[in-house]
Amino acid sequence: MDIELSAEDRVFQQEVRAFLKENAATPGSDPQQWRAKWFAAAAAKGGWDVPKWPRRFGGPGWTPSQQYVWDKETAAYALPVDSPFGVAMLAPILMAYGTQEQQERFLPDIRSRKVNWCQGYSEPGAGSDLAALKTRAVLSADGTHYVVNGTKIWTSAAHLADWIFCLTRTSDTGKRQQGITFLLFPMKQPGIEVKPIITLGGRHAVNMVHITDVKVPVENRIGKEGEGWTYAKGLLQHERTGIAGISRSLVALASLKEKARGVRYGDGNLFDDTAFRAKVAAVEIDLMALEFTELRSLAAAAAGGGPGQESSILKLKGTEIQQRIQKLNVEAAGIYSAVWRPVSDPILDGPKFAHDAMEGFLTGRAATIYGGASEVQRDVIWKNVLKTRV
Ligand SMILES: Cc1cc2nc3c(=O)[nH]c(=O)nc-3n(C[C@H](O)[C@H](O)[C@H](O)COP(=O)(O)OP(=O)(O)OC[C@H]3O[C@@H](n4cnc5c(N)ncnc54)[C@H](O)[C@@H]3O)c2cc1C
Repeated sequence: MDIELSAEDRVFQQEVRAFLKENAATPGSDPQQWRAKWFAAAAAKGGWDVPKWPRRFGGPGWTPSQQYVWDKETAAYALPVDSPFGVAMLAPILMAYGTQEQQERFLPDIRSRKVNWCQGYSEPGAGSDLAALKTRAVLSADGTHYVVNGTKIWTSAAHLADWIFCLTRTSDTGKRQQGITFLLFPMKQPGIEVKPIITLGGRHAVNMVHITDVKVPVENRIGKEGEGWTYAKGLLQHERTGIAGISRSLVALASLKEKARGVRYGDGNLFDDTAFRAKVAAVEIDLMALEFTELRSLAAAAAGGGPGQESSILKLKGTEIQQRIQKLNVEAAGIYSAVWRPVSDPILDGPKFAHDAMEGFLTGRAATIYGGASEVQRDVIWKNVLKTRV
């Protein structure tokens, strides 16, 4: 599909393509050096290292359609891994609700990727029902700091993180949402214990985080005490839009077709099989429809404001599509994907991609859970999008 871009956006698309051709070369023998080189080149272009940031914070100040072009063009390249927690999630909250002092203190290290962040929202008793969270922050008598106690769960990359942005409870009176406070504090300090959780795909990506008597200066509170829920919700909309991964799915779908063409099937290859092709076509049609939804949401964003309730539609459908593609990868690999082995262990006669197919499928199960489970997105869509139209 080729979405109609304006003349200016086409010029911009050419500029992005030229930049990627020159700077997005393969990692080579030194991934660290490759990473540093990529971000330096992107920064030198005028804030392309923080593509979604506005100009006043050092970003390129792109329009939503320019951001769309960037996402689409970069998806085809294996760029250095970039954690979303700092640049894409916390930064917009700091820009909107942080003090100037907090912005000056945290944004430069987020931008340089010197400080890794993690997100402390979910708790053993608070996932979909996030307002049930119990991690307690008690303000000291002299009003200089909070003392935080509690347990967070499913905290992605907590074992690699330097800092956490954390939802805490500061009050039990009134509506549950009104007693929540948004705090920032370092992970590498006494009182923080990180325990790994190994997921279905065999990865260590998430953790349990125990927080015991951790002192957090009041300067590390975002916005007002008890108003953290508002900031947290804004952040979730940024998170959901990112998880939808439409550009990544377009690349994954093209790759699936390529893989299927390489799998022997009867006298031809798997992609000649009409039943398999029909499944691929069904995903492609849904992906195309979702891309139009994304463009509609971008047009609305261009008219002002951040990602709105459409982020729930994008998250819901985007993650379902990811999972359907992952399932088709497994189907294409056939029995060879049933045994999951490291790449160094050759699979006799089987396609090379069978190594990753099952791991991708199993790990991908989580996408319809994190950032708000699918059932909850359906609820949000009903309450905020559909109900308003009936
Ligand atoms: C891989 C992974 C990474 C994660 N990373 C992070 C992270 O970095 N930071 C963080 O804070 N959290 C993280 N999470 C947590 C994630 O946000 C929660 O798992 C999610 O919000 C669901 O909460 P829960 O697991 O407690 O499930 P529950 O809320 O207990 O839900 C269980 C089931 O009940 C359904 N359900 C719940 N309420 C309703 C309802 N009202 N109507 C209909 N159905 C409902 C759910 O859809 C789900 O199917 C991560 C989770 C995963 C799996």
